Amino acid sequence: MTKIKKLVVANRGEIALRVMRSAKEMGIATVAVFSEVDRNAMHVRFADEAYCIGPPPSSESYLRMEKIIDVAKKSGADAIHPGYGFLSENEDFAELVEKEGLIFIGPSADSMRLMGSKLAAKEAVAKFKVPLVPGTSTPINDIGEAKSIAKKIGYPVLIKASAGGGGKGMRVVENENEFENQMERAISEAMAAFGDGSVFIEKYVLKPRHIEFQIFGDKHGNVVHLFERECSIQRRHQKVVEEAPSAVLTPELRKKMGEAAVNAAKAANYYNAGTIEFIYDEDGSFYFLEMNTRLQVEHPVTELITGLDLVKLQIKIAEGEKLPFQQEDLHIHGHAIELRVCAEDPSNNFLPDIGTLHTYRRPQGHGVRVDDGFEEGMKIPVQYDPLLAKLVVHAQTRELAMDKMIRAIEDYQISGVETTLGFGKFVMQHHAFREGNFNTRFIENYFKPEMLKERTEGPEEQLAAALALLVQQESKPQPASAILPTAAVSKWRKNRV
Ligand code: ADP
Ligand code: ADP
Ligand code: MG
Repeated sequence: MTKIKKLVVANRGEIALRVMRSAKEMGIATVAVFSEVDRNAMHVRFADEAYCIGPPPSSESYLRMEKIIDVAKKSGADAIHPGYGFLSENEDFAELVEKEGLIFIGPSADSMRLMGSKLAAKEAVAKFKVPLVPGTSTPINDIGEAKSIAKKIGYPVLIKASAGGGGKGMRVVENENEFENQMERAISEAMAAFGDGSVFIEKYVLKPRHIEFQIFGDKHGNVVHLFERECSIQRRHQKVVEEAPSAVLTPELRKKMGEAAVNAAKAANYYNAGTIEFIYDEDGSFYFLEMNTRLQVEHPVTELITGLDLVKLQIKIAEGEKLPFQQEDLHIHGHAIELRVCAEDPSNNFLPDIGTLHTYRRPQGHGVRVDDGFEEGMKIPVQYDPLLAKLVVHAQTRELAMDKMIRAIEDYQISGVETTLGFGKFVMQHHAFREGNFNTRFIENYFKPEMLKERTEGPEEQLAAALALLVQQESKPQPASAILPTAAVSKWRKNRV
C-alpha cells in the first residue's frame, strides 16, 4: 500500500474543488493546474500549489497529458485525480500516469478501454447475463443489412456511436425511408466528435427512464453497489435533475438491478468508482446502456443518501485499501435531489448563455449543499462546460426534498446570465415529477418556455406574457418540442472532446 501525500487534480471548476476538499481533509497536499483564462479561478486559489498549463482551449491545456504529468513531477506529487470530463475517460492518460510511476485515481486502463467502447462493453457484460437493449452487437456497415435488422427490431430505432458520450452521435430513425440519411449523419457526427465512425442499432425505447447504479470496487476483487440514481429529466440526452433513490424501484427490483450492475463491473475487472447506466422500460424491464468509468457529475446525491465521501473512498482504493464495507452494511437514508445549475437559457432551447455573474448568492440551510466553482463578479469562460453549480438537497422523504429544493432555488440569487434555476423549480412543482410518473421525454411532453415566464414573474408581467403569447400563437404554430437539434450543440461541448 502506498499512502498518497500530494495530489494533482487534472480538472477545473466545481469538481476540482470538490476533489481537493476531500484530499485536504485527509492531510494530502493539493496541486492545481489551470489554463490562462482560469488564473483567478477558485480551484487555483484553494490548492496548495498551482501551475499554468496553457492557453484557454482545453486541447491546449486541460487535455494536454504530458503537461499535466510534468506538473506532477515538478511538484513532487504521487497521484493524479482526473475528475470528470477532459482526460477522465482517456485510457492512454491512465496508462501514461502509471508508466511514469504515479497513481491514477480511477480504474485500470484496460477496464477503461473495454467500457469506453459501447459495443465492446455490451459484449463483455452479456457474458455475465446483464440484459441488453435489443439491437446489434457489432458495428453496422452494410445499409441493406442494417435496414433488415432495423425492421426485425421494429421502428423507431436508435443509431448510436460506439465511441459516443455526452449525448452525441445518436440519431432516432422513425421509419425505413429515413434510415440511410440518419445513418450517414450519425457516422459523420461520430467521426467529427470521436474520430471513430462505428455505429450500431438499438431499439428506441419510447418511454424510458434513465436509472444508473453507482458501483465501487477495490483492487482485491470486491465490488459493491451504492444504490441507484434516477436521471430521467434530460435535455439533449443530457441530465439536468438527478435524484436518489428512484421513485419507481421496489426493494426487489433494486436488488436485481444492483446485482446486474455489480456483475457488469466484474465483467470489466473493475476497481474504483464507476457507474452502470440502465434504461428502464414502463413494464419494469431494464437494459444495460453503458458504463462511465469515472466519478459522475451527480455523485453527491449518492453521498447524501449513503453518508459516504466518494472521493475519499476513491483515494483509499487507489492506495490499495480494501472496501471498508460489504453490501449488507449499506443502507439508504432519506432522499436527495440535485439540480445542475447551468449557464443556459431554458426559454431558448437551453442554449448556453455567456456573461458575468453580476449577482451570485448561494442558498443555505439544513440539508442544502452547493458545489460550485464561481464567485460574484466572475466571468464565465466560453471554452468549457456551462455548469455553474450543483444544487443538492437532502431530506427525510422525496416530498420534503422537493419542497426543500424549491425553497433553495428561490433563495439562490444569480444575475448576469440565464440559468436552469427557474426550470428546476418548474420540475419540482410539476405534478408528473411530484407523482414520480415521468420519463426522459419530460421536457418534450410538458415543458414550454412560456411556462417559466408565468412562474417567475409577477401578475402584471404574467398577463403581458400571456397576451404576447396569444398573439404569437395566432400568427405562427409553436414548436412541439423544446429539445435542441444536435446541429446546434454548444461550442463548449465541441471543445471538450
Ligand atoms: P455524467 O455522465 O457524469 O452524468 P454528463 O453526461 O453531463 O455527466 O457528462 C457528459 C460528458 O461531459 C462526460 O464525459 C462528462 O465527464 C463531461 N463533462 C460534464 N461536465 C463537464 C465539465 N464541467 N468539464 C468538462 N467535462 C464535463
Ligand atoms: P452517452 O454516452 O451520450 O451518455 P447513453 O447511451 O448513455 O449515451 O445515452 C444517453 C441518453 O440517451 C440516455 O440517458 C437516454 O435518455 C437516451 N437513450 C440511450 N439509448 C436509448 C434507447 N435505446 N432508447 C431510448 N433512449 C435512449
Ligand atoms: Mg450515458
